[in-house]
Amino acid sequence: MVSVASISCDRYQEEVVQEAVRKAVAELGGLDSFVSPEDRVLIKPNLLGPKPPEEAVTTHPLVLKAVIELVQNTGAKPVVGESSGGFLVEESLTARAFKETGTEEVCKQLGVEMINFDRVAATEIINPGSTVDSFKLPLAVLEADFIISLPKLKTHGLTLFTGAVKNFYGVIPGLEKMEYHRRFPNVNRFMEVIVDIFELVTADFAIMDGVVGLAGDGPGSSGIPCTVGSILASADPVALDTVAAGYLGYSDSQIRYLNLAAQRGLGRADLDRIEIKGNFSQSEYKKYDLPSNAVLSHLPNFILRPLFQGLMSKPVIDQQSCTQCRTCLDSCPQQVIIEQQDGNNTYLEIDESECSKCLCCQEVCPFDAIELKENFLFKLLRYFK
Ligand code: SF4
Ligand code: SF4
Repeated sequence: MVSVASISCDRYQEEVVQEAVRKAVAELGGLDSFVSPEDRVLIKPNLLGPKPPEEAVTTHPLVLKAVIELVQNTGAKPVVGESSGGFLVEESLTARAFKETGTEEVCKQLGVEMINFDRVAATEIINPGSTVDSFKLPLAVLEADFIISLPKLKTHGLTLFTGAVKNFYGVIPGLEKMEYHRRFPNVNRFMEVIVDIFELVTADFAIMDGVVGLAGDGPGSSGIPCTVGSILASADPVALDTVAAGYLGYSDSQIRYLNLAAQRGLGRADLDRIEIKGNFSQSEYKKYDLPSNAVLSHLPNFILRPLFQGLMSKPVIDQQSCTQCRTCLDSCPQQVIIEQQDGNNTYLEIDESECSKCLCCQEVCPFDAIELKENFLFKLLRYFK
């Protein structure tokens, strides 16, 4: 039996968050029982993009602050590292994300180094999995003595859920992330990439910001903020994600990459074998909107595998909302977002025939200007579900 601590926390108020994080970790024996004073502890928040905390897209700075202080109390040295999603040719979105999410302010206040994984030395590490021969990982990740995943509780249009495990896709430096989306357009293979990276990084601990999460078509601006009201912690990030996904309304068999991680011995993904500690009551579970693609996860695997890609919703740019900021264009792994001309007007359009439906464009669009359009069969499935 592995343990996940889940503590009620209904608002982002410094003392309230601090106490909830402290209690969650104390339920598991305290951070002292995991970390040594001489350790360099890498904290990996989810800073998907340059978003203010109230959009609920990124780990809240008060949760980060509470975790840094806990680490500092052990005598260990915390550092905070991230490579954000999305890509712009002319600037590092990670640097902007550090600033706009409130991370930079917290780190400055507490004297903690921030590491932009897009800008530091990285090395190729042999992949134990089957997707690629090796992954390029920052030395700062490989040299850390202890790694804490510090995700936000969110839905995800492609993988349905993102938490402590998928958070480590953000250790892959900027452009490389696009490369794996390009090489593995099939969602099942892409989920194997996520698990391969998780296995390589070997997270020691996870603490999740589930105070206000993201439902609907997360994990970016298209999602809907939802007050779940919990801080979760576990030494098993797979188990933590399984519990947190349950809070959004998923069953423990629905998030395929968590089950894959469990099959590979990287954690527990069956609720029967996870002990939930703390004071977060089951009665507080609510019904949230899930991503439009979630309905597909109810299909049996032998039907789903060959059909999934075709059935998935396709992204369409809403010309009224699009500011032509070009974030999606620069971030599209398949390079299928095209600039079109209509008289004096230019606009962006997705070449449907070449789109792999990775949904990176929707994830990174700062203006919620990419909608998902369901196909007919998909609507039928939703109707009969
Ligand atoms: S769809 Fe979004 S990301 Fe793409 S150019 Fe328009 S506003 Fe920018
Ligand atoms: S258009 Fe969007 S969904 Fe299609 S391949 Fe490009 S980033 Fe992925």
